[in-house]
Amino acid sequence: GQPPKGKKRGGPPLGPWWKPGAKKKKKKNLPRRARWTPSAEPNLTFTIATLAGKDEEPWFSEAVATNLVDKATLDAAFSRATSKSQDFLEAEPYWDQSTIPVNTYKTKSPFIGKVTSVKRIVGENATGETCHIVIDHQGKMPYWEGQSYGVIPPGTNPKNGKPHSVRLYSIASTRYGDDMTGNTGSLCVRRAVYWDPEMGAEDPAKKGICSNFLCDATPGTELTMTGPSGKVMLIPEENPETDLIMVATGTGIAPYRGFIRRLFTENTPAAAAYKGQAWLFLGVANSDSLLYDDEFSTVLKNYPENFKYDLALSREQTNAKGGKMYIQDKMEEYADEIFAKLDSGAHIYFCGLKGMMPGIQSMLESVAAKKKIDYEQWMKKLKGNKQWHVEVY
Ligand code: FAD
Repeated sequence: GQPPKGKKRGGPPLGPWWKPGAKKKKKKNLPRRARWTPSAEPNLTFTIATLAGKDEEPWFSEAVATNLVDKATLDAAFSRATSKSQDFLEAEPYWDQSTIPVNTYKTKSPFIGKVTSVKRIVGENATGETCHIVIDHQGKMPYWEGQSYGVIPPGTNPKNGKPHSVRLYSIASTRYGDDMTGNTGSLCVRRAVYWDPEMGAEDPAKKGICSNFLCDATPGTELTMTGPSGKVMLIPEENPETDLIMVATGTGIAPYRGFIRRLFTENTPAAAAYKGQAWLFLGVANSDSLLYDDEFSTVLKNYPENFKYDLALSREQTNAKGGKMYIQDKMEEYADEIFAKLDSGAHIYFCGLKGMMPGIQSMLESVAAKKKIDYEQWMKKLKGNKQWHVEVY
């Protein structure tokens, strides 16, 4: 089925209410409720319990009697939810990168953020555990899409008795955060574990300190943070026609989630202006390990001309030679298009584990050789034009 007609660029993503073929439910004859408008009552404060009716649900007033919602909070929520454009965190003009925040907080003067939520986002048969973590920064630690936050895990390093060192995590939300308030930032963190081949089991004594701390965090957990840092992975927004090729393995998807939300699902000036094509290549082990697939599939449905989404599932798909489908194999299938796009000024991004680069580079080199292109010169030109962006760890 097709999404409902009349959807404009930059509008909110389709919600779970929309299903192909779903029919509107008929309204039952329910009594009409008064509509709440932000300015109807100047000093409105109410308890949910009074509205619910104490007699119908005797337990209810007890449960929520102290839950006071003042009018200012309701007003703010209302205007946030209904405001037409999302532009309160934009530069002037929006693509100008000269005011980008860098290292606002450092190891010696860190920011204390608070975890809002931690959610496992991979299926049962995923290889390892990956969590989406939303952090409240109260609007005090603004960042741009493509930057990273640093997290200093609590405790000391037993090797030297000093506090643990900072670990970097690519930010997986746009500058507005997942809730559009500009007060949060999200991370996509894979729990690092150590597999002991001799024991044939995980050794908990050697598990990754910071990633486990983050994946085990609960709402309210305080985080000692640095950053935001990095300018390598920014979107070149000055020319909204620029094609982007985004290559990720695993948590390397994080910055691109921010890019894709900014270019397609938010109501920002960047989304309104974007006329290029954004092409995502994601490599993971199997379909249970996919990350943010629902979000990307929705964007693909809504913007089939401007968004492309290709997957390499190494344990489920086979490449042209019958081997495992790695990210470079999927890219090779489209090598002609990729080379043509890069020749016309596309920017290419790589993010994920360091180990992804050698395979990709030798694939590109062999394609270049077939095309009689001098690989070194070709690469030099891309780097010189700032079209080549790498953040691997
Ligand atoms: P550490 O405690 O630092 O341990 C590192 C590894 O060593 C672990 O795998 C651990 O199991 C193993 N180990 C521990 N003890 C032993 C031992 N005795 N012998 C052998 N092995 C041992 N990660 C993400 O998940 N998401 C991101 O978006 C992300 N973005 C990044 C962006 C940048 C720019 C960089 C540089 C890194 C990024 N990382 C990201 C990686 C992240 O910074 C951490 O390196 C990662 O989470 C592991 O840190 P840790 O503290 O959990 O592990």
